[in-house]
Amino acid sequence: KPRVLSGMQPSADSLHLGNYLGALKPWVASQESQENFFFIPDLHALTSSFDPATLAQRTRTTAAQYIAGGISPEKTVLFVQSHVPEHAELMWVLSTQTGFGEASRMTQFKDKTAKGGTEAANVGLFTYPILMAADILLYQPDRVPVGDDQKQHVELTRDLAQRFNHRFGEVFKVPEPSIPVTGARIYDLQNPTSKMSKSAPSPAGRIDILDEDAVIAKRIKSAVTDAGSEIRFDREEKPGVSSLLDILSTVTGTPLPALEEQFAGKMYGHLKVAVAEAVVAEVGPVRERAKELLADPAEMDRILAQGRDRARATATETLDAVYSAVGLLRRG
Ligand code: ATP
Ligand code: MG
Repeated sequence: KPRVLSGMQPSADSLHLGNYLGALKPWVASQESQENFFFIPDLHALTSSFDPATLAQRTRTTAAQYIAGGISPEKTVLFVQSHVPEHAELMWVLSTQTGFGEASRMTQFKDKTAKGGTEAANVGLFTYPILMAADILLYQPDRVPVGDDQKQHVELTRDLAQRFNHRFGEVFKVPEPSIPVTGARIYDLQNPTSKMSKSAPSPAGRIDILDEDAVIAKRIKSAVTDAGSEIRFDREEKPGVSSLLDILSTVTGTPLPALEEQFAGKMYGHLKVAVAEAVVAEVGPVRERAKELLADPAEMDRILAQGRDRARATATETLDAVYSAVGLLRRG
């Protein structure tokens, strides 16, 4: 089985329906065919604005939602980045092998500092791609699924791995970037030509999976449609209605043409009721299971400690090989 590493930042109180249908469900489905390492990059979260009072809870909540949605802590190695000190240790060694010019060419840093300027940026944001290289190389994965915005960072990771292997001996597997397994792309209910996003200015167009049934139903009933009355899938002419049909189709597994037939002659209100029922039926049990897990933080922490131990078994092996390759005195 190919080994695959992936992560999800603890940057919101709840996953939204896009994260759930577009990322979590396909990830759950991949557990049989891949050896999955899934981590919560809390150290990376420190590079942008964060709230120390809620960060730990968000880390737990993120993990709980993954488990509630079907990630098995047995099949997947599920862990928190800061619990595995080897990430920061390997990052140091890799940073000594990274050119300043090379690091300065990372476009995400340039984009993120375009507004405020580099003078105000923290150095952690600048070295973020090197920590990401350490995250990856520690686990010797075959593949790293990343979106376009992270491709350049995986290229840097490959360069660093190859450079290290060439200079110090074969230690790292050079990972292939791969397109993430994705499910549906879900759109904002108030702004149905933009994707649903946790960083949208208003939560009104978002379905947070930890919200109560009534809140979810209300958001769906307030979804933007159009002045017409026909229920058919047409992204250009009818983005709101199409996006509702898409959600219903993804959640129930009913093909779009069958839904168009089912709703022929019906009103938008009928469609919204059906979408609300289907979404609540799908995510309600996930929310309840997540709540149960979060009601017992000690049990959550035990699950994460188990993941940490499994992750460290691999991470320490790689770091030992690195330290010995560069000639550091064994720590015994
Ligand atoms: P941000 O706005 O901060 O980028 P986000 O809502 O896009 O947040 P991410 O943390 O960037 O969430 O993405 C986590 C995962 O969820 C990724 O795999 C991403 O592709 C997926 N995802 C995010 N939004 C959607 C969406 N609207 N539809 C489908 N998948 C999505
Ligand atoms: Mg995003």
